[in-house]
This record gives sequence, C-alpha cells and structure tokens, in this order.
Amino acid sequence: MRQRLFADFEERDQAELGEKLHSFARELYPICRSITGAGIRETLERIGKRIPVKVSNVPTGTAVFDWTVPREWNIRDAYIKDARGHRVVDFQQLNLRVVNYSVPVRATLSLSELHPHLHSLPDHPDWIPYRTSYYREDWGFCLSHNERVALEDGDYKVCIDSSLEDGNLTYGECYLPGRSSEEVLISCHACHPSLANDNLSGLTVATAMAEFLQGRDLRYSYRFLFVPGTIGAITWLAQNRENAGRIRHGMVLAGVGDPGGFHYKKSRRGDTEIDRGATQVLKHSGEAWETLDFSPYGYDERQYCSPGFNLAVGCLMRSVWGTFPEYHTSADNLDFIRPAQLAGSLRVCIGIADVLENNRRYRNLNPYCEPQLGKRNLYRSTGGGSIGTEINARLWVLNLSDGENSLLEIAERSGLPFPTIADAAELLLDGGLLAPLPENES
Ligand code: ZN
Repeated sequence: MRQRLFADFEERDQAELGEKLHSFARELYPICRSITGAGIRETLERIGKRIPVKVSNVPTGTAVFDWTVPREWNIRDAYIKDARGHRVVDFQQLNLRVVNYSVPVRATLSLSELHPHLHSLPDHPDWIPYRTSYYREDWGFCLSHNERVALEDGDYKVCIDSSLEDGNLTYGECYLPGRSSEEVLISCHACHPSLANDNLSGLTVATAMAEFLQGRDLRYSYRFLFVPGTIGAITWLAQNRENAGRIRHGMVLAGVGDPGGFHYKKSRRGDTEIDRGATQVLKHSGEAWETLDFSPYGYDERQYCSPGFNLAVGCLMRSVWGTFPEYHTSADNLDFIRPAQLAGSLRVCIGIADVLENNRRYRNLNPYCEPQLGKRNLYRSTGGGSIGTEINARLWVLNLSDGENSLLEIAERSGLPFPTIADAAELLLDGGLLAPLPENES
C-alpha cells in the first residue's frame, strides 16, 4: 500500500541524474519549435523514445472555446544578407534570430526600411531577444544590439523561407494508468525554440518524472501533457472537457533549471491538497523556496484554473518568468540551466507525487490513552534522553489519526517531513494500531 517514491528516488545518484537531464535538454535545444509545425512534432518524437507519448493533431480552423487553431508554421531558412552577400543575420546559426511565426518574405530593403523589422536589447547588447508574432501577420529578425549598431547603410537582401498553411496543432500526452481513474496532471509548454529554462527544463523534468513513475503500482493515474503554451492547453481542454473532471491534482512545470530558489504558485482555489503538498515538500527540500498566491497571468495554470474548470492545478518554477534578465533571450541557454538544479526540481516533483500517493486518513484503533508501544517493539528499549524523530512521528500519527486528519495534515502540524510520517503510519498499521479509511476519502 505504501508507495515509497521519494525514498527510492533518494537512492539514485543525483549527479548522474542531473547530467542525464541536462543531456536531454542539449538534445532538444537546437530544434526550432513553435506553437505548431515540425519542431514540436520532432520534440514529441524524441520524448516518445523515453516514455509512451500519444500524439494528437488538431486541424487548423478548429474552434476551441473562444479561440481558433491557427495555421501551421514551418521554416526552412532565413537570413539578412549585406551588399557583399554575407549573412549578417542567419537563422541557421540560431533559430531565435527570426521572429517566430514570421510570414514568408523575400525583399531588398534599405537599412532604414529594415529597422522596423529588427529587434534587439540595448540593455544587454550581446544578447538576442526571443520574439513571436503568432496572432498578427508580421515578420522580423532578432539580433544583438552590437550587431545592429554595426549595420552599415546600404541595401540588404531579406529572406524568410517559411510557410503558414492549413495544417495541425500538435500536442503529446503520456498517460500512466493507476488504480484510480482520478488523475494527476503534469503539464508543460513545448513551443519555445532554443530556450533552455523556459520550456526545455520543464520538458526534461516532466519526461524524467514519467520515466520514474512508469511501471509502478500507482494510486492515481498520471497524465503528462506536452502542449504549445496557451493555445495548446486551451485546445486540450476543449477536446477533453468532460475528462478534465478526473483531474484531482495538477501542476504546470516551467523554468525549473535555473540557479534560483523554488517558487510554487498556488491553484486558484489556493488550499488544495497539491498546494499544501507542494508547500510541505519545499519546506523540507533544503533549498530556498517561496509560495505565490494565484494570479490570472503566467503559464498554462491560468487555463486549468479558469473559472469554468477551476482545477487544483498549481505551477512549480524556480525563478519566476519575466523576473530574470535572461528570460526570453539567447542567454536562457544551456549554460543557464544546471544539472543539479534540474535534478533538484525532479526531486521536488517526486516528493509531491509521494505525498499524493500516500496521503490518506487513518483511525487510531486504541484511542483511549497512548497504546503501549514498547510491548509491540515500537518504542525505544532504553528510557531517558530524547525520543527521536521516528518515535515522535509515531506519537503524532497515533494522536491525530482520529479519522479527520490526513497524513499531510499530521506532517504540517508536527513539522516533520511527510515521508517520516508516512513511514510511521505504515509501521503502526502493520502493528495493528491503525485502520485505513478508504483511499478516496483522503
Ligand atoms: Zn516563454
């Protein structure tokens, strides 16, 4: 009955795990992803080599709530050539260099005609910004500010060899069935091109979490969603309107590889089991952490927490989007995400799953005064001194197991880590001192 996810995870070599996560990020980094097109499909294919992924294609023009699935964007090449024929801006060198979703263009422009189509960051003159134009027909290039000021007067040949045609929006799902049809949702966006923390960190950690959970006897079913941001989550919800009710707990994963401390943004409901479970795990993670109240902007939690759904879905991040200078620039690269931080984020995710899998209520079968633990070999053999964490945990579980408090509530009130409380409950259950309440009553 006890599913020891966190203890199992702790036995793994964390440095090796971090390296594996980072190497998967390196594999995915060069792919030019967008909200539709070949890049997201190739990304899902690569994830599908590690975990079972079902790929869905939703045709352009499909109405999804108040939105419409857009045309599919694909790109082969893009550049700006100077009068000597040199590529002064080259998509082949870095896919951030073209504004994502740019319409095709072939033209010769003077520098002053070109400038309105150029994006750079004067405050970080060596970095290249990441820009998109999904819902407005436009085209443009991104370059460092130093490159921009070095452009000489003259004519420039501009080419964006892209296509914007009827096609599909593609998303991927990995479903791991558990004993219950109630689900834990892990969602991450898969639409950013060569950006490491903002999206690759979430993809790699979610994939590794599914790898870790698959094949286990799980209480909940787990659904991992790899979707283009905003439109992908909206499309999935529109196509799964009825099934969404099965989602009992959920979490969006994004920006979990940078050197910052953790931020857990609570669900709209604010006090759900996953909100409290995540807080509990972070409190004992040994890393810096903070919880944030729900707000209607951010990642896809804002779709899952829209009032019509109001699901118990929070968001786990390290540094919060928009608050670090590397955000949406070429500096959010493979050096910005660290193996140890990726592994630490996976550790928190497994810790949260451990809480969800094992959190339930018990009834103390000996509620009149303390049961005599010593005669059951559940107490220390020598008196005096402190009782230690394990026995303390047993006393807390016995005292609070009145059928009302869950193990998570006991962990919160005792200040002890959840796995210590769950271990104590298992021992007391084996010792005939506790009776479990049905799983669906936790
Ligand atoms: Zn982003």
